[in-house]
Parts: sequence; structure tokens; C-alpha cells
Amino acid sequence: MSDPADLDRQHLWHPFTPNDLWLDPAYEPAVITAGEGATLIDTQGRRYLDGNSSIWTNLHGHRRPEIHDALKAQLDRIAHASFLGLTNDTAPFLAAELSRLASRTLAEAPLTRCFLSDDGSTAMEAALKIAWQFFQQNGQPQRTTFISLGSAYHGDTVGAMSVGHSPLFHHTYREMLFRTQEVMPPACYRCPFNRARPEKTDARQVRQCAWECVDQAAAAFEAAGPRTAAWVLEPRVQGAAGFFMHPHGYLEKTSALARGQGALVILDEVMTGFGRTGPDFAFQHEAVQPDLIALAKGLTGGTLPLAATLATEVLFQGFSGGRSRTFYHGHSYTGNPLGCASARASLTLLETVHHEAHRRRQAAVLAELARPFWDHPHVGDIRQEGTILAIELVEDFASGRPYDPALRLGAAVCERARAHGLLTRPVGDVLVLMPPYCSTDEELGRMTHALRRALDEVVPDAA
Ligand SMILES: *Cc1c(COP(=O)(O)O)cnc(C)c1O
Repeated sequence: MSDPADLDRQHLWHPFTPNDLWLDPAYEPAVITAGEGATLIDTQGRRYLDGNSSIWTNLHGHRRPEIHDALKAQLDRIAHASFLGLTNDTAPFLAAELSRLASRTLAEAPLTRCFLSDDGSTAMEAALKIAWQFFQQNGQPQRTTFISLGSAYHGDTVGAMSVGHSPLFHHTYREMLFRTQEVMPPACYRCPFNRARPEKTDARQVRQCAWECVDQAAAAFEAAGPRTAAWVLEPRVQGAAGFFMHPHGYLEKTSALARGQGALVILDEVMTGFGRTGPDFAFQHEAVQPDLIALAKGLTGGTLPLAATLATEVLFQGFSGGRSRTFYHGHSYTGNPLGCASARASLTLLETVHHEAHRRRQAAVLAELARPFWDHPHVGDIRQEGTILAIELVEDFASGRPYDPALRLGAAVCERARAHGLLTRPVGDVLVLMPPYCSTDEELGRMTHALRRALDEVVPDAA
């Protein structure tokens, strides 16, 4: 029988993967063949803890019986039928449940409507087009400017890339993207306005500033004025940007300013959604009224690709009143019953075994396990929101000077961690742990232990 790794090298094209790295004969990818709870198993029988929940998608562990039973029951009825002019008996229940969960804190305008698609990029793409078209056909066609955060990552479709500002991912495509307005990300550890000296604590706790980050956003809203269509951001944590964690209150302050200008607020909860920061959605920490939110990654608990864009009733009704006002947008697999069935089972788990109190307790355990990392001289910042833990490596603690990116130190640490039974991926030199909610305290301990061993081996204290 052919070796899957050999066939892979001949025929596959992997996401975000440099050819020279993948085709390097010295690089031996793990060939994952099974999973069980927080553990992934490869063809050699080696077991790894899934330290980043299979790139932020898995919530309840692999082969979770409740989700698999729901999937099998759905499969015994039907896998898929079109959502054009038809509905099914699964997607409407999911939409109602998502709407209820996401609207808990929204007295003003609940998110009553759910547009289904396939992944985070398409959820964002739909949100941007809904915002655009809403203004085009409701008397404010001049509102065409989207304002979003520096380094932001919202996906890889052209619209999602346009509101993204990641130099690495987006610079090649600049000329094919539409123009958007970029605002300084409120990342306290690297903020030019933060006058505090580095301390061995989350930089947000000791920041010395006058909320200049909010002033920067205010200036952008002011400049774009009545041309602003929407303020677009990940609430509280910018994941792929580098796990920037925002000072609490930024979301509420900036969203109020955007609304003051008559703009919409589009929140990308693709990574933060479904309890990652504690409550079901990160925006629920603050008094904010989103008009649109994008959900994907954890929606099905990490089993199938499915995404949702939730919208207010006002937006939906803005598409009523004649055929020409239709949202002509969609996907062949819209409303896929298998995805919707697994999402429903995942939401039930989020309200039962993996409820908010469980997630908060797990976050506290993780915080305790992370604390000793401060004694490593090349750890510059440790920041955490819920079960998202980020550890930033620096060449010099006192100045926060980063390492030369060409050293790929973060990647080297994570590659070494594999040998210690942990799979995770960094963003640059930011090490990330985002364990599945099923992880036991003992498993969390093994994750941080493996990461620390790898760090000590790759970046010795004296380095
Ligand atoms: C992953 C991610 C996306 C893109 O989602 P895909 O499912 O990979 O298309 C968008 N926004 C955020 C915040 C993400 O983390």
C-alpha cells in the first residue's frame, strides 16, 4: 500500500504551508489517523495532545459521542438537499438556538436572522456584502467604507482579505482588494502609547495610557464620517494577527463611536465564539450591540465545516420590498443538515457539560499553569482570555525587542513540542494553547509541561 505521506507530497497543496518546508525530506509530518478526547493519534501509534483544538475548531474533544450520535441519526435520514426554495428540519432549529444564545444580552436589537455558509471567510464575506447592500438600497449608498484593525485576519476570500491587514498574508494581493480604512490595533504589549515599562504580568494590567487607541479609532470614524459602512473587528482577541488581546472596554467604547456615526458594527467571532473567552460570545463581556456577527470554527464542535452570519431584523427587512432587493448570494451546501445536526449537539454540550462555569474553571487552571513561564527570561508577555493562552517570546525582556522573524523561533518551539507529545501552532513568536473543553486538569498540565520543555530546549535561559 502507498504511504500517505508520499502521496501527499506528490499531490496535495496545504494551506499556509511553504513548499520548501513541506517538501524538505527532513520534515516528517504526523499522519493523523484517529482521535479520542483531547488526543490525536498518528499512523505510528504516537499520541499527541491537541493543544490548539485542531486550529481552534474543536470544543468538546474528538469522537464526542453526543455529536457523533446526532450526526449518525442525521445521516440515516439525509445528508444534504438544496436550501434554495426548500428548507429542512434541522437548520431552522439551529438558527433559532444561535439567535437565542447570541441575543441574550441584546435588549435593543436581537440577532434574529441567521445566514448559513461554510467557513469563517464566507461568514465574513456575507456580513460585508449584507452591510454594503443594505446601505445601497436603503438610502445611504455613500456608506462604502469599512474600517478595521491593523494586522487583522478575517479570512482568505477577497472581501475578507480586504478588511484584513496582515502584511504577511495580504500584501501580495493589495491591488486586487477593495480599499478599507485601517486603525491601530489596541495591543497593549506593543502599543506605542503605552508608557509602562515591561513587568512580569499581562501588559494590559499595568498599561499607562489615556486610551489613545480609542482616539485613533475615533479619528478614523470622524474622517470617514457618513461614508462609513461598518466597524469590523474581532472582539477582545485578534487571533491570527498575533493573539493581540485588547484592553477591556475598547470594544464597547469604539462600537459606540461607530454607531454614533450611523455605521454598522460587524463582529468576527469565528475564533472567540462558543465560549473561548468565557461567555458564549466575547462581545457579551461588554455593553455592545452588534449588527452582524460571523461564526464558524467551533460551530460544529470541530466536526464539519459550517458557518453562520447572524444579523438583526432591521438588516433582514432592508432586503424586503421587491425582487431587486434580494441578497443574491449563497452556496451549494447552504444549510447542510449534517453540519447543522452536529452544531446543535455541540450547542447542547456548551450549555450542559461544558457550560460557562466549567470554561471559567478551566481558564483558571490554565492561568495557574502558565504563571511559571514568567521566570523564563525570553518570555516577554503572557496574556490570556478564557481558555486562550498566548506566550510571546522576545529577544530582550527589558525593551521587548522581538527576535529576528527569520529565526522562526516560535515554530521551532512548537516543532520540538511535538516530540514531547503536544501539537500546537504559534503565530510568529507567540506560542498558543487553546485546549478543547474536555481536557482534564492533568492533560492541561501535560500540555504546559511539554510546551515548557520545548521552550527550554529551543531557547535556553541564557540564550
Ligand atoms: C479562522 C478565522 C477566519 C477564517 O475562517 P476559515 O474557516 O478559515 O475560513 C476568520 N476570522 C477569524 C477571526 C478566524 O480566526
